[in-house]
Amino acid sequence: MAGLLIIETVEELKDVLFRIRSNGKSIGFVPTMGALHDGHLSLIKRAHDETEVVVCSIFVNPTQFNQMSDLESYPKTPEQDIAKIEEYVDIVFMPTQAEIYPEPPSEKFDFGQLEKVMEGTSRPGHFNGVATIVKRLFDWINPDKAYFGEKDFQQLAIIRQLVKDNNLDVQIVACPIVRESNGLAMSSRNRRLTPEQFVLAGNIARILEASTRITPCTVQNVKEFVNNELGKYPDFRLDYFEIADENTLQPVADFNGHDGVMGCVAIYLGDVRLIDNIRYK
Ligand code: AMP
Repeated sequence: MAGLLIIETVEELKDVLFRIRSNGKSIGFVPTMGALHDGHLSLIKRAHDETEVVVCSIFVNPTQFNQMSDLESYPKTPEQDIAKIEEYVDIVFMPTQAEIYPEPPSEKFDFGQLEKVMEGTSRPGHFNGVATIVKRLFDWINPDKAYFGEKDFQQLAIIRQLVKDNNLDVQIVACPIVRESNGLAMSSRNRRLTPEQFVLAGNIARILEASTRITPCTVQNVKEFVNNELGKYPDFRLDYFEIADENTLQPVADFNGHDGVMGCVAIYLGDVRLIDNIRYK
């Protein structure tokens, strides 16, 4: 497509994409909440490489925030966002809240055990809000492929389940975590860290990484190690550290008997909530 198209209404979005699809073009979709960084850019570049028309949505979705203060302090940088991605994106969808939710949404999703652990317990209603917006965007955009980051590992499992439960015809592409030079997983919320907190936050990835080299590598040893190491930093307020099966996300007692096992962590540093994960197996 020639030139970047910025669209604000659902009607125009559907219209434009109908024409694109009629021309037989493949559509790649990257949903975001803006304040874009190189993590987002990696998803967008991948979509650019793999599909003919790339749509990126920028929408701070209120229904997935369970704390008003987090929603209010969420960074918004629309001009910089567009400058960062325009080389790789054909359509940016930047709707208002009223456009997406003319009425309060009533969708209720049930993801079973997947939503009863980690982010699901710590942030009640969060995944229902994520599923509400992603399902609506999928219905309007009808992408061939949609790109999600492994930083939000549980979200990825929820989205895969959403696609399965609703028989959606979209391929979900998982993209690896992009990190800062000190190892910290990139996140829009990192902008709210002070320079000192930013340096401190690098220890999260360092500790996770070191925990993969523990011997003997048992679930109990890894848990002890991570909890101990994180405990050395009084500024960290641990929300959870779980060792979980990569598919079911349920806690495991043993690395054996599982195809893949992940360590997932959520930590408050000041009032900024950081999440990260690492693969053990
Ligand atoms: P967000 O704007 O935080 O909703 O994120 C939009 C998408 O970018 C989600 O699929 C995230 O998982 C992904 N993402 C965010 N941070 C990173 C990162 N550091 N590395 C890879 N993907 C990321």
